[in-house]
Amino acid sequence: MTREATPAVLLFTRDLRLDDNPALAAAARGPVLPLFVVDPRLPAGENRRHFLAECLTDLRESLRQRGADLLVRRGDPVHEAISLAKQIGAGAIHLAEDVSGYATRRQRRLLTAADSARLTVHLHPGITVVPAGDLVPASGDHYRVFTPYFRAWRQIRWRDPAAAPAALSLPPGAADLPRQEPAAALGRIRATARTLPTGGESAAEAAFRQFGRYAAEYPERQDDLAADRTSRFSAYLHFGALSARRVATSPAMPEALVRQFCWRDFHHQVLAAFPALPWEPYRRRADTPDGVDRGGAAPADADTLAQWREGSTGLPIVDAGMRQLQAEGFLPNRARLITATYLVKRLRGDWRDGAAWYDDQLVDADLANNYGNWQWVAGTGNDTRPHRGFNPLRQASRFDPAGEYVRRWLPELAEVTGPQVHEPWRLPEPVRRGLRYPMLDPATLDPATPRSR
Ligand SMILES: Cc1cc2nc3c(=O)[nH]c(=O)nc-3n(C[C@H](O)[C@H](O)[C@H](O)COP(=O)(O)OP(=O)(O)OC[C@H]3O[C@@H](n4cnc5c(N)ncnc54)[C@H](O)[C@@H]3O)c2cc1C
Repeated sequence: MTREATPAVLLFTRDLRLDDNPALAAAARGPVLPLFVVDPRLPAGENRRHFLAECLTDLRESLRQRGADLLVRRGDPVHEAISLAKQIGAGAIHLAEDVSGYATRRQRRLLTAADSARLTVHLHPGITVVPAGDLVPASGDHYRVFTPYFRAWRQIRWRDPAAAPAALSLPPGAADLPRQEPAAALGRIRATARTLPTGGESAAEAAFRQFGRYAAEYPERQDDLAADRTSRFSAYLHFGALSARRVATSPAMPEALVRQFCWRDFHHQVLAAFPALPWEPYRRRADTPDGVDRGGAAPADADTLAQWREGSTGLPIVDAGMRQLQAEGFLPNRARLITATYLVKRLRGDWRDGAAWYDDQLVDADLANNYGNWQWVAGTGNDTRPHRGFNPLRQASRFDPAGEYVRRWLPELAEVTGPQVHEPWRLPEPVRRGLRYPMLDPATLDPATPRSR
């Protein structure tokens, strides 16, 4: 058997694509067993699991078309990868390097177990545009501030694309190995959103082509809530059905969008350096017991938190966002900023409660991006202005000037015309009485709010 012909195991994790997948390109130099292991210890919201099942089904189909298959199992990824490698006489296991505490522990365990089994483990880039450890500032082990990171990120040479293999071959005997259907391996899935994007690389490809038509408008419309003209690539990027490097190098993508990809990489390198990001304040504040910025008030009670989650706070721009989140498992960035900041800065809620709800609902829920952004909002993260002021009504009039977004998501207010939909408490008393919508006391919105973002 030549060196190239020694079989390899490709352990897919969240790089569920054929295109520009360095781990796949390397493993496919010989016979390859593509493997995905559902780890029941890894929690995930129902919307995300639904999307993942579709990603796996699509990936399996694409692998079959090229002469291979996807072996799906349920269990411990390390145990499954090692035992299958032994069964097929593999010499190596390939996988994409990832950054969370869970992923790095998995990588370490795999390296140890492979060592005992005389197998080689190859870690490849592919999850982010620039791998987390590739950019290190002159002082410190990672970048804490975005702008210098962006400068360095723009200057460094990005890796070359990895072509999708035209043909693949399975190692002898691989076709007979016991496997599970993706949906069965994931267990019962009860998606809660009414509409969800279709998962998988084929759907990502279609979304990429479709967005190409609007990409030029992105800089002007990225915050226009009613226009809904952001890429919606996030879930595809989270599961790796779309290559971040490919999008960021596409000439059709404007610089404003490429910059967002840098935010994604930025949060990933923060998580790599600070794995406690999902639960511990990244930059603690000295003046509160738990380091969280609540403006000195008591934390939100359970009812307030429930109203925020349900979208019945009485502030239309916030409620519209929270209803969209429930209906689609998605929110545009501007609506995430508005709803999250309202919880943390006005309702004095704990960012961890807000982030946990997002984590449960979002199809794109992502440890680095979700918790990194929540900490940014809470003033415990990487914002250089942690006391940034925020006026939700000003946000509403800037980013939903005609009230269209609010009317789309709040049927109770669908009949209220124009921008007055943002302040239903100002409507004439008889109109107000006819609305089945909670009336907020506008005094709680403190008019002396400092400048908003
Ligand atoms: C409180 C809060 C929570 C968030 N939680 C998540 C999350 O769980 N998962 C997630 O992918 N994004 C999260 N974001 C970032 C951002 O809101 C989403 O990535 C974006 O809204 C997804 O929509 P899009 O793909 O249409 O984005 P576009 O505007 O089209 O941007 C393209 C891509 O750039 C990346 N991106 C854009 N904005 C950011 C950002 N602020 N930080 C990091 N990456 C960014 C995403 O990968 C996105 O898909 C969060 C932001 C906030 C304020």
